[in-house]
Amino acid sequence: MADLPDKRTAFIDWYLAVVEAANLTDKRYGVKGMNVWTPYGFLARRHLDAVLVREIEATASQPVEFPTLIPANEFAKEKEHIKGFDAEVFWVTKGGLSDLDIPLVLRPTSETAIYPVFALWVRSHRDLPLNVYQIVNVFRYETKTTRPFLRVREIHFFEEHTCQVDEAAATDRVRSNLGAFRKMAEAFALPYLSIRRPDWDKFPGAFYSVAFDIPVGGARTLQIGSVHHYRDNFSAPYGIRYETAEGTQQLAHQTTFGLSERLLGAVVAVHGDEKGVVFPSSIAPYEVVIVPILSAQAGDAPLTAARALHARLKQSGRRVHLDAGDERPGAKFYRWELQGVPLRLDVGRREAEARVATAVDRLGRKSSVGFESVERDVAERLADFDRNLYERAQIAFREAFSVARSLDDLPGSDRVRLVGWCGREECGHRIETALDGALLGVPEEELPIPAGAVAGCVACGGTEGVRWALAGRPI
Ligand SMILES: [Zn+2]
Repeated sequence: MADLPDKRTAFIDWYLAVVEAANLTDKRYGVKGMNVWTPYGFLARRHLDAVLVREIEATASQPVEFPTLIPANEFAKEKEHIKGFDAEVFWVTKGGLSDLDIPLVLRPTSETAIYPVFALWVRSHRDLPLNVYQIVNVFRYETKTTRPFLRVREIHFFEEHTCQVDEAAATDRVRSNLGAFRKMAEAFALPYLSIRRPDWDKFPGAFYSVAFDIPVGGARTLQIGSVHHYRDNFSAPYGIRYETAEGTQQLAHQTTFGLSERLLGAVVAVHGDEKGVVFPSSIAPYEVVIVPILSAQAGDAPLTAARALHARLKQSGRRVHLDAGDERPGAKFYRWELQGVPLRLDVGRREAEARVATAVDRLGRKSSVGFESVERDVAERLADFDRNLYERAQIAFREAFSVARSLDDLPGSDRVRLVGWCGREECGHRIETALDGALLGVPEEELPIPAGAVAGCVACGGTEGVRWALAGRPI
């Protein structure tokens, strides 16, 4: 097989080639941007979803599932929202041979499916907070070039929707979501930035939006999720109100938290290298692959030993695969590297005799794993691998940013830029024009690199209200 394109100089070509070669998805389906989840890709997705479920449920959120179709009249209730999604929705206008009285929208996101029902569920202050989430597919008529996991028309989507007693409680929920995402991203070993989007780029209908961005090379950025504070922008048109302890009627304040299969794309984009995908053990379809090195001299010993190791690791709850096929060992090593398996155990004649397997992790580090202590040794190797993978990602993350001191200094860099910004929209657009990109907004947390005190707005030179902001080219 041919070498992969160079990740540094041809990121998109590399990404597409890696996703294809690792067999994570099949894009030959008959609708553009609607891809098939292969068994290997599906397993990665399932483990990724399990992390999302674990962390969101740790913050008192409950699972629900709402229908896929939304009546046109409900979809149209919040004006900014419909303006933002109008050009992206698929319509269902027929039921069998008859035209539907009320056309139906295939959900592009589920506010307008869920909120008419929230209006029925929320009656009293005792019903609040209401925190629910679902993991479903949503549909967006994407007109740009589609890319597996990054830009698709059928999106595997995580969405939390909440109702809170007031604006402050909703702000607390936003904070809680930011904390939950920190834990999710840690599990995926993904460094990222939480950035408050400028007003012109917030979610349609939101009071404000905080998005999570990662740099993906060449000054490009990828948004991997977002949290939104809605105030009562949706609860007013949908009538989500409750009776307070004092007996008055109040509108709920709402929040949402959205993530998607882009997270899987992000794992590929951030950790992948010249040999292929690299999965952190949290989501690897197989954490360990065992390869017996068969030969005439070795006889049955390597296979017997490999089977025993496989059984023990499986028994201890590891996701482990025994690759006993008749390919050459070199071909197997190559494939499992391409598919990103964190840890490989090789068992040849020497290993079978010494009762010690040769362990090779996906960062290329070799060690020995004793047969008698295989559960403990594998746990240690995987923990060490995850730690090193995270460190490698953090080093690359810090190298992906640089400060721009003037508009002239903005274009032509392969870094995501930190700029002084006074907060005015006019200056924001001047920055975007100079970069031919987007002003991503102001970080909610610490800067990715030490940048010192901010001198002035890179566009107008003004010092009033000036803060560090991030500017990049969204992929
Ligand atoms: Zn300015």
